[in-house]
Amino acid sequence: MALHEKDSVRANLLDDLYASSDLSVRMPKYKFPEEEHDPRHVRQAVHDELMLDGNSRQNLATFCSTWVEPEVHQLMDECIDKNMIDKDEYPQSAEIESRCVHMLADLWNSPEATNTMGCSTTGSSEAAMLGGLAMKWRWREKMRGQGKPTDKPNMICGPVQICWHKFARYWDVELREIPMEGDRLIMTPEEVIKRCDENTIGVVPTLGVTFTCQYEPVKAVADALDQLQKDTGLNIPVHVDGASGGFIAPFVDPDLEWDFRVARVKSINASGHKFGLAPLGVGWAIWRDKEDLPDDLIFRVNYLGGNMATFALNFSRPGGQIVAQYYNFLRLGREGYRKIQQACYDTAAYLSDEIGKMGPFKVIYDGRGGIPALCWSLEDGANLGFTLYDLADRLRSRGWQVPAYSMPANRQDLVIQRILVRHGVSRDLGDLLLGDMQRSIDYFKKNPVTTPLTEETAGGYKHS
Ligand SMILES: *Cc1c(COP(=O)(O)O)cnc(C)c1O
Repeated sequence: MALHEKDSVRANLLDDLYASSDLSVRMPKYKFPEEEHDPRHVRQAVHDELMLDGNSRQNLATFCSTWVEPEVHQLMDECIDKNMIDKDEYPQSAEIESRCVHMLADLWNSPEATNTMGCSTTGSSEAAMLGGLAMKWRWREKMRGQGKPTDKPNMICGPVQICWHKFARYWDVELREIPMEGDRLIMTPEEVIKRCDENTIGVVPTLGVTFTCQYEPVKAVADALDQLQKDTGLNIPVHVDGASGGFIAPFVDPDLEWDFRVARVKSINASGHKFGLAPLGVGWAIWRDKEDLPDDLIFRVNYLGGNMATFALNFSRPGGQIVAQYYNFLRLGREGYRKIQQACYDTAAYLSDEIGKMGPFKVIYDGRGGIPALCWSLEDGANLGFTLYDLADRLRSRGWQVPAYSMPANRQDLVIQRILVRHGVSRDLGDLLLGDMQRSIDYFKKNPVTTPLTEETAGGYKHS
């Protein structure tokens, strides 16, 4: 090797990262790169770009886990190669998934937890698709048995998360979504019953409505459906969207009957990666009984010698989240989950009291009776020199994401701001936010906004 070549090899090995041949020039962005790059350089370049993402811990819009224990990081790393679909290659991961299903069936008071069917999913959205499909299949079977047409299925719900709009559109089901009216921002039994007919595949109450975080009255709706059956013979099942509440109510409100204690509740979905405290990428769908999950939706895998049923939209799927979910169940138990969720409730109630005292805000949900969260609007008729969109925008300059958004039909006029209090949103972090909110209000007093932001000009916020 010529001497000058040796020098260049040496220089490449010892280069400071940012003086390196890679990082001192532009990295490829949109055209597929021709050449290799040093892994150390590339990792730094990608890492640096990610700095521009928001800080997830300050994202008070999301319901999802933004903090996990160090042990979860270790397990996730160990599981990076595990594919949930390969049940013969990773039988122990499959066993762990099955244990989680049974633990959830137990947590949700399934009368026969051993007979319960269920599976992990990528989140509640996939779980909702599966729950909805099972309802549609069962309804169709029943209608065919009676020689009736099966071309006009409908489903009844309150203000739902977008996954149910997707379900309805993808699988051709009419969504009878009960609109909000006045101060009623969730479903009521009366509004449900009004919309029922023989084409109703099911009713879906939400335990922790996306917009306001309130619980819909599962038991009262089921009772009303019992009465409807007595009166008309219509037997309409209930699927509970427990995306958040499914991992909160059992620990903090064990007497609230929303789960399989209510006979009409045939299936439940929940997001492991929300208040289930697992890292992003896991949800659960559980059916009360074998009967409730039509057999022709299930694909059987017999490699395990047992009866490994699969029901999923995805094929390959990472296993780490499920292993981490199992870790959480063992690590925390009912006691640990209760302590964590209760701490979140305490912080939510504290924040809502303090925000109520600030003056310009009317608290709409104060963190009591639904999930650990709060939301507020501006006081009626208040002319404060800013909108909630302006406030959200100003808080962003300190890294906080506290989204402002309008309600769905029929309360599009109502604009609110919402905070999710999750694992890791501590009292002290809350106090820092309150300080920034007060400073923002004072700032707007001195500097009223001349062109207040609106839903259109503020840039979109998507519920997650
Ligand atoms: C978040 C959420 C969903 C969607 O769940 P993912 O786990 O994000 O797919 C569905 N329903 C409700 C009520 C939710 O809060």
